[in-house]
Amino acid sequence: MISNPPPWPNNCRCAVAITFDMDADSLVHLEQPTDSTDRINAISLLHYGPRIAVDRILSTYRRLGLQQTFFVPGWCVEQYPEVVRRMVDGGHEIGHHGYLHENPRNFDRQGQADLIDRGIDAISRVTGSRPVGYRAPLYNYSGVTTDLLIERDFSYDASLMGDDVPYILKTTSGQIVELPTHWGCDDWPPFAYIDDLNYRMPIRAPSDGLRGFMEEFDAAYKWGGLFVPVWHPFVTGRLARWTQVDNWLTLLVERGDVWITTMSNIANHIWGLQKDGTYEPRIDTLPYYKEPIST
Ligand SMILES: [Zn+2]
Repeated sequence: MISNPPPWPNNCRCAVAITFDMDADSLVHLEQPTDSTDRINAISLLHYGPRIAVDRILSTYRRLGLQQTFFVPGWCVEQYPEVVRRMVDGGHEIGHHGYLHENPRNFDRQGQADLIDRGIDAISRVTGSRPVGYRAPLYNYSGVTTDLLIERDFSYDASLMGDDVPYILKTTSGQIVELPTHWGCDDWPPFAYIDDLNYRMPIRAPSDGLRGFMEEFDAAYKWGGLFVPVWHPFVTGRLARWTQVDNWLTLLVERGDVWITTMSNIANHIWGLQKDGTYEPRIDTLPYYKEPIST
C-alpha cells in the first residue's frame, strides 16, 4: 500500500507524533479584529487551551514518558510564556506556527519573511532555542515558504498533505523534510463549532470523532506509515475527549512497537537515513508550476 516506507528505529512498525497547535485566542483576534476583545465567550472557549487543557495533556505525557511537539504562534508564546515553559520543561518540542496565526498567502515575500522572523524571535526568547520545525497557519503554505524555511535552517515542515510517509521538498535553495498529515487527522472537522470564527461543524460524540483518528493510526501501523494528528488543546484537550485519548495512548505505549516521538526526531531520522544512503525519500521539486494554468 505504501511503495516506499522508511525503516523506523528499533524495528518499530510506524511513527507517531501527536502534534498540538496551541492557537489559543490568536484566532478570534485575527478573525474579528474590530471587536475581538468584547467576545468574551469565544475568548473563554479558546483560553481553555492554555489555562486548562495543556496541563492535562502534559500530565498524560509525563505519566507515559512521552515527548511530543507543540506548534505555537509567536503571539501566543509571548502571551502564555509560562505555559510554553512547562512544555519545554517536559522535554517537548516547540514548533513555529506563524505570529498571530496569519495566512501567509495574504502577504508578499518580505511580509511572510517578517512573520517567520517574529515567530522565531518569540520562541527563541521564551524557550532559549530556535524552532527547527514549521506548520503554516491553517496549512496555508505559499510558493515562497520552502525557500524562507531553508534560508533560516529549518529542518522540517509539517503543513502539507502529499504522502503517507516523510518526503523531501526541494527548491534551488536546498532541501527540507516534509512530515505530512491531512484533514482526516485534524480535530476541527469532527469537533469544532465556533460561531465567532464562522466555523460551524456538527459536533460528533468523542468516541465517534476519535474513531476516525484511531483508524488513521491503524492504517499507518499496518503499512509502516507516519501518523501525525493535528489537534488543538481547546478542542481535543476537552475532558471527555482527552479521557479517551489518554486511554488510547496508554495502550499505544504498551504495544512497544510504535515510535512515538517529536517531529524533530522524525525529521532527524529521515535526514540520517538519506545521509548514510540506507533510504531514499521521495522528492517533490518546487515550484510545481512556473506560471498560471489557463486554457
Ligand atoms: Zn493553528
